[in-house]
Amino acid sequence: MSMLPRSPRVLALANQKGGVGKTTTAINLGTALAAIGERVLVIDLDPQGNASTGLGIERNRRNLSTYDVLSGDCSLGEAIQDTAVPRLWVAPSTMDLLGIELEIASRQDRAYRLRSAISGLARDIGRGMPEFTYVLVDCPPSLNLLTINALSASHSILVPLQCEFFALEGLSQLLSTVEQVKASLNPELNIHGIVLTMYDSRNNLSAQVVEDVRETMGDAVYETVIPRNVRVSEAPSYGKPALLYDLKCAGSQAYLRLASEIIQRERNLRTVAA
Ligand code: ADP
Ligand code: MG
Repeated sequence: MSMLPRSPRVLALANQKGGVGKTTTAINLGTALAAIGERVLVIDLDPQGNASTGLGIERNRRNLSTYDVLSGDCSLGEAIQDTAVPRLWVAPSTMDLLGIELEIASRQDRAYRLRSAISGLARDIGRGMPEFTYVLVDCPPSLNLLTINALSASHSILVPLQCEFFALEGLSQLLSTVEQVKASLNPELNIHGIVLTMYDSRNNLSAQVVEDVRETMGDAVYETVIPRNVRVSEAPSYGKPALLYDLKCAGSQAYLRLASEIIQRERNLRTVAA
């Protein structure tokens, strides 16, 4: 397996638990990165298609989807669509993606389908294809072949954890999957960070969870904590990222801070590597 190209940086948003903020983070972190000048592609790898919906791509506009990409019917470039956010694009998903696992199960390259598709983007640069600086992959709530495809294709994994009592439950399973992928499919994979989501300042439990997770996971946890914010949860029903729906709300502001923190971490990684 050849090295991943350095650019675009590919980050997988993964946690096999549902409802922890993966999709919300893909949409809003993507928007925040675009707002500060990055060229961002969100790849929707969840058959639910919530990232696509939240970025304004209605179901009847998903002629080509990540299903078609993974099954080899089209290139990733062909599936990409503009969004209302400048410098932000999305490769949408449909329910068809539910069948992909069976369809590619017997293929030798089944874990590398997404990686090949992302590598293929380089061929289209200059032919109308933007040169993305970040790719965010929104994973399904499962450690299935789709998530394995995302981890095989990524430089780093970014793990959203909800500020609730069982926040750390399942994390060890996720981390051991990361280790397995590193050992076999993608030695370059690292953990970019853990982002605590849906923090409720009126609830003592939230503060306790933040403290516990920081104690257990140390520097892996981002400084930025995403607050529970009704504007953030309303935005997808308008097909908009929170940052377009209400830039001033606490949730949007937190995602902007997270974006700066991520770029800072990338710079530090580069300094270490140089
Ligand atoms: P996942 O992709 O991990 O399943 P989602 O991003 O879809 O999780 O979030 C689960 C639910 O929680 C959604 O209804 C979403 O709108 C809501 N949610 C996520 N983050 C926030 C937040 N910061 N404030 C309020 N609601 C949120
Ligand atoms: Mg999701």
